[in-house]
Amino acid sequence: MSVEDFDVVVAGGGPGGSTVATLVAMQGHRVLLLEKEVFPRYQIGESLLPATVHGVCRMLGVADELANSGFPIKRGGTFRWGARPEPWTFHFGISAKMAGSTSHAYQVERAKFDDILLKNAKSKGVVVREGCSVNDVVEDGERVTGARYTDADGNAHEVSARFVIDASGNKSRLYTKVNGSRNYSEFFRSLALFGYFEGGKRLPEPVSGNILSVAFDSGWFWYIPLSDTLTSVGAVVRREDADKIQGDREKALNTLIAECPLISEYLSNATRVTTGRYGELRVRKDYSYQQDSYWRPGMVLVGDAACFVDPVFSSGVHLATYSALLAARSINSVLAGDLDEKTALNEFEARYRREYGVFYEFLVSFYQMNVNEESYFWQAKKVTQNQSTDIESFVELIGGVSSGETALTAADRIAANSAEFAAAVDKMATGDGDDMVPMFKSTVVKQAMQEAGQVQMKALLGEDAEPELPLFPGGLVTSPDGMKWLPHHPA
Ligand code: FAD
Repeated sequence: MSVEDFDVVVAGGGPGGSTVATLVAMQGHRVLLLEKEVFPRYQIGESLLPATVHGVCRMLGVADELANSGFPIKRGGTFRWGARPEPWTFHFGISAKMAGSTSHAYQVERAKFDDILLKNAKSKGVVVREGCSVNDVVEDGERVTGARYTDADGNAHEVSARFVIDASGNKSRLYTKVNGSRNYSEFFRSLALFGYFEGGKRLPEPVSGNILSVAFDSGWFWYIPLSDTLTSVGAVVRREDADKIQGDREKALNTLIAECPLISEYLSNATRVTTGRYGELRVRKDYSYQQDSYWRPGMVLVGDAACFVDPVFSSGVHLATYSALLAARSINSVLAGDLDEKTALNEFEARYRREYGVFYEFLVSFYQMNVNEESYFWQAKKVTQNQSTDIESFVELIGGVSSGETALTAADRIAANSAEFAAAVDKMATGDGDDMVPMFKSTVVKQAMQEAGQVQMKALLGEDAEPELPLFPGGLVTSPDGMKWLPHHPA
């Protein structure tokens, strides 16, 4: 058997795989992407975050295509959550000061979104082979040196590469080739039952594209508008209520909808889609986990292959594309001879773990806030480390007293280059509008938003963006074009 040689082989053409493949190919390296399915294919994970749309996707060169694809614009989220009986809304950008072009994301049909990213990978020089399933890696001692795959006709192949990237999502077993185990969360042990409806109600303008998340006795519902008429509807049910989604799925979903008055109202004139890509009622469980190690010599895990938290704040595609960006920087630096593999991939893993940790911590708090009002106030105090009483902490948060100083500073510094973007970053981090919810101002969320802001800044301003400081003592910084790491030399 002849063995083809590439610089990088990527298993999986979802958002994680397409992103890392494209960003490495854009540096002139030879990249092969092997995707098991033939696109477009179904996937769950339809609600995106601004950092993906305006940060990573801009770096990939698809931001304008996404903007012209007709995806519903997601300006924020609307929640019936916690002790407050009425729904509350947060916006990514909520004042005239933040009339920025980066203050929204999209709700996407993943078949279309993922296809755009995969086609873009091809157009940026990635060799893409669909219908090809990666079965195993090739090893030479500690090092992974290639991959084995089966093509659509059943023929076996072997390819050699400096790096193999596992971006094959949560169902494949390739990740077991990286040392350590997959640790499942004890906290996020829910199950999801989901399907699609035509003719569901919409939130009023200008938030008709928002995700609507509604807590109810057995868990919570997502309600995501995917077009003027198509809606993705999913029930996330606590493990102890798992019996509620056993048996007949249609009956189970209808029973859960009936338990939740707001979702019942929104679906009162809707019909469930029963044919085609959206015709099936699907169940997902055990989706929250983290891998002990995210890399070994010659092999890197990105996206769901490495970790996933929970659907509640739409972090999945963000973590997949952000980890892909981090991995691409590391690989580009090693292939260019700028850094050794261990230094580059330790930076990848440290940043990825931090981002995962920020979301994990935040989402745990968010579920705790679902318990009762007192818990809500107490958590607000905890995440802000405020010295006031619980209720004061809460009021100070929604009163706009907390500040996102780092992003404000960054916004000031780049104002001359992009006043509009500066306002967007400022607003994302401080959230000083009247209806900004407390959670969105918590320390941990501000951190996440600042991370997101940095990626967006880099994508928008390129070389004009201010150099960053390392995220960790002695760590690396991003190159001016965002494609590699550089050692940090303090002035
Ligand atoms: P995937 O999108 O899974 O892509 C992996 C690809 O690898 C697939 O195309 C697959 O066909 C291919 N593949 C698999 N095995 C092989 C192999 N052996 N060889 C070659 N190719 C292979 N995220 C959000 O951002 N927003 C949401 O609203 C959201 N909602 C969610 C709701 C639920 C119930 C769940 C469980 C998750 C949700 N997510 C959401 C998470 C989101 O689905 C994932 O995080 C995201 O799809 C991960 O992207 P990825 O590129 O890592 O993997």
